[in-house]
Amino acid sequence: MQDHRKLGRELELFDTDPLIGAGLPYWRPAGAAIRHALEEYVYESERRAGYQHVHSPVLGKRELYEISGHWDHYRDGMYPPMQIGAEQVVLRPSLCPHHALIYRSRARSYRDLPLRLAELGGMYRSELSGVLGGLTRVRAIQLNDAHIFCTPDQVAAEASAALGLIRQAYRALGIEPTRYRLSLPGRDGKYAGDPELWDRAAGLLEQALAEAGVPYEAEEGEAAFYGPKIDVQVADSAEREASLSTVQVDFYLPERFGLEYAGADGARHRPVMVHRSVIGSAERAVAQLIEVHGGAFPPWLAPVQVVVLPVADAQLPAAEAVAGRAVRQGLRAVVARPEAGSLGARIRAHRLVPYQAVVGAREAAAGEAALRLRDGRQVAARPAGEMLAGIGQRVAERSAGLWDEAVMSV
Ligand SMILES: [Zn+2]
Repeated sequence: MQDHRKLGRELELFDTDPLIGAGLPYWRPAGAAIRHALEEYVYESERRAGYQHVHSPVLGKRELYEISGHWDHYRDGMYPPMQIGAEQVVLRPSLCPHHALIYRSRARSYRDLPLRLAELGGMYRSELSGVLGGLTRVRAIQLNDAHIFCTPDQVAAEASAALGLIRQAYRALGIEPTRYRLSLPGRDGKYAGDPELWDRAAGLLEQALAEAGVPYEAEEGEAAFYGPKIDVQVADSAEREASLSTVQVDFYLPERFGLEYAGADGARHRPVMVHRSVIGSAERAVAQLIEVHGGAFPPWLAPVQVVVLPVADAQLPAAEAVAGRAVRQGLRAVVARPEAGSLGARIRAHRLVPYQAVVGAREAAAGEAALRLRDGRQVAARPAGEMLAGIGQRVAERSAGLWDEAVMSV
């Protein structure tokens, strides 16, 4: 594994500027391309799993966080309030309170549940400058978050389905978790709510882990202030462990916000909130992808998917036509022009690009391209349209493999 901070700079993925500030990285086009591909994956897999997407503001009144309990239990991690007229507003430390209010904005019936609200939204953490670095310790976070409002009977199935989404995402991303952790409260009293409900919530998470058949380790002192959680742990290049994905069961916030639904019996009942994140934050997920893949991303995540290499100046128009066609098809493609060096030097400069299409005199005349894969294998020359269709299919399927092995000629 390589340090994502070093590689992120070398590959021109992200950077910082002292005038923007520590812990506030910006994303260059190549890094933004990876992040967009990841976000599209998240939106798509959530839609398929029955989630509805919402957008909510990154600010809220201080009172909102007093109700949610963040003000009492999490103030050290929050930015100080901003005074606007008679009001105090704060940058949000989590998306949960906004989603609880969206739930509360309509009368809900048991027929509406489970209601799965998802958002890729901003949140803010006032980390001390000494601990900031790269994409893993930042002050502005884009979180892949969702809240499932459901009946107590639906919790275990929803939590286990969320674990299923996480495992599916890790397969597509090529990420291996180091372990699953059941994070329980410690004994220091910073946890909110009724201990009996905490035990019940932990029991439901154990049930979800058992249903998913995943081995896990229970650890005290790692819970959120409002409930226990399953944390999916990953390791970075320095073997430091961090939580990427999470599934949490919460009886506390529904109580604080007075959430209700009409049951089949006609009476008012309190829903449970399952908080879950499939990839965690965009920042931490991309940091992990950089370290795991060392810059050689799966084709669907690669900042540049196709580099077209004309052998000589005479093939430049043909190469530009192939790259233009690739771009119109939705692929990220560039031309490596002959003035940048010999063909070998240009291939080395683009060694992390999964597909390297070489256009020589013969290929240009025939409307073809010869394909070289990142791992050094060759695919016989074929019409450019056919080659791009093959690449497009692998990208659309989010395949980890570069080419159909059955037709490979080495
Ligand atoms: Zn939440």
